[in-house]
Amino acid sequence: MGKTQKYIFVTGGVLSGVGKGITAASIGAVLQAKGATVSIQKCDPYLNVDAGLLNPAEHGECFVTKDGAETDLDLGHYERFLDIELTQKSATLAGRLLSELIMDERAGKFGGKTVQLVPHLTQSIQRAIEDAAEGSDIHIVEIGGTVGDYEGLSFIEAIRELGQKVGRANCLFVHVVYVPFISTSKEFKSKPAQNALNDLRGFGIVPDSVIVRTDLPAPANIASKISLFGGVPLEAVLMQPNVDTVFRIPETIAKSGLHTLLTQFSGLSAEPNLAKWKKIIAAQNKLPETIIRVGLVAKYMDNEDTYISVLEAIKAAAWQQKVGVDIVWINAEAATKADFESVDAILVPGGFGARGVEGKIAAARYALENNVPYLGICLGLQVAVIAAARKAGLTDANSSEFDPKTMRNVVYIMEGQQGKESTGGTLRLGDYPAILTPKSVLAKTYKATTAIERHRHRYEVNQAFKEDIIKGGLAITGTSPDGKLVEFVEAPLNNYFVATQAHPEFKSRPSRAHPLFVGLIKQAFIDKK
Ligand code: GLN
Repeated sequence: MGKTQKYIFVTGGVLSGVGKGITAASIGAVLQAKGATVSIQKCDPYLNVDAGLLNPAEHGECFVTKDGAETDLDLGHYERFLDIELTQKSATLAGRLLSELIMDERAGKFGGKTVQLVPHLTQSIQRAIEDAAEGSDIHIVEIGGTVGDYEGLSFIEAIRELGQKVGRANCLFVHVVYVPFISTSKEFKSKPAQNALNDLRGFGIVPDSVIVRTDLPAPANIASKISLFGGVPLEAVLMQPNVDTVFRIPETIAKSGLHTLLTQFSGLSAEPNLAKWKKIIAAQNKLPETIIRVGLVAKYMDNEDTYISVLEAIKAAAWQQKVGVDIVWINAEAATKADFESVDAILVPGGFGARGVEGKIAAARYALENNVPYLGICLGLQVAVIAAARKAGLTDANSSEFDPKTMRNVVYIMEGQQGKESTGGTLRLGDYPAILTPKSVLAKTYKATTAIERHRHRYEVNQAFKEDIIKGGLAITGTSPDGKLVEFVEAPLNNYFVATQAHPEFKSRPSRAHPLFVGLIKQAFIDKK
């Protein structure tokens, strides 16, 4: 008989956006550190099929998996905390399941039956969960949104049923709630959390543990109130005020009553080995002698989540190089030379659409002409190519994305992509290999002559303009194995000016920084000395 699959379900109450994803990932990290094989999945109840067409200003970054799934940014947290590579299976959206269900209905697969949310959608959800769990000891499932949301009901019912199916001993329900602090009366209010627990119980789920998020440390009576009214033992109520770094959460869990529960549940009595997390926290808290100012030339200025993997990758590189980092947000729509002069390194991240693109081209050109360390990511490569072509004399060079009529389309739409602009799931997505030119800055940075990175783009460098691009100061030092697609460029006369058509930020880990980001920080540090 095979081993029994265990499940941990993480739900939320009161409000979303208080760190349910980080909590789920941290629970996984603790179990991993105790020796378990952990898998993890996000279920999002909204009706989109994937996160590809969601507005990043509203939803934060679209995280891409190796197999090209366009997912919620929580998968980025999962990959960074658990150091695993996830797939489409870990991103389950109601829209995807419903469209499959409707296709099955059209194909006559229901034998004349009425197709319903319960049991048909709830069964699809359970199958998606069981499928994603395969191969692990413990599978963690985070349900997006808050319990009680209309669209989430089928998901809550599905996990309740799954809990019944696998048996109570094989599943753990963790509810994350928020307790606000009322500044006028200077008190914490546990009522919304109690109501949220009532809501969950109303759907037939009594949680095994409650994680109480607060902005500030709350007094002990809040935990006892939640324990009493929520019907959860006091040891299983974990108070979780804001912390200096999210990487401290695994340690907080390991020191709490929740750890005892995780030990009983998993049967793993080993103390978790948290050395990796301790090292990251120490690196983060060390007061560095040198601070590197990295200019992030951005379009979405009011939501850090939009660039979260890029920000995490920059920080990881700084920790590895034992320097401090100050990320300077440069508004691409208003950027001036003074902005570029004020930083030690320039990073142009990915992006879509014409807004702010001239500022990004100017940033790349400034870095190219002034030997400022530069890392271009996806659009950051395309603007570097445009900047080089303009420098070489093609003053009207552009991408057909921003000027569809341009004759100097140094960046153009890929074959087979015409007419698909703004449709879902049609970008070039996921892992693709590249061959790097031996002895190039890129090959030296990767310490390899091949690289596999994740992609998410529609436009490509037009190699008909290769001579102009070279004349402008760039070399193509990485292509697809057949040589048709430009994957990497660099400026041979600069110390560190590199750009990739891919998204290396998705493969960076807090304890294993990505070489391209390390290269940027390293050169900026050398230049500063
Ligand atoms: N908009 C560009 C393209 O579609 C770049 C995409 C990106 O930066 N992810 O090719």
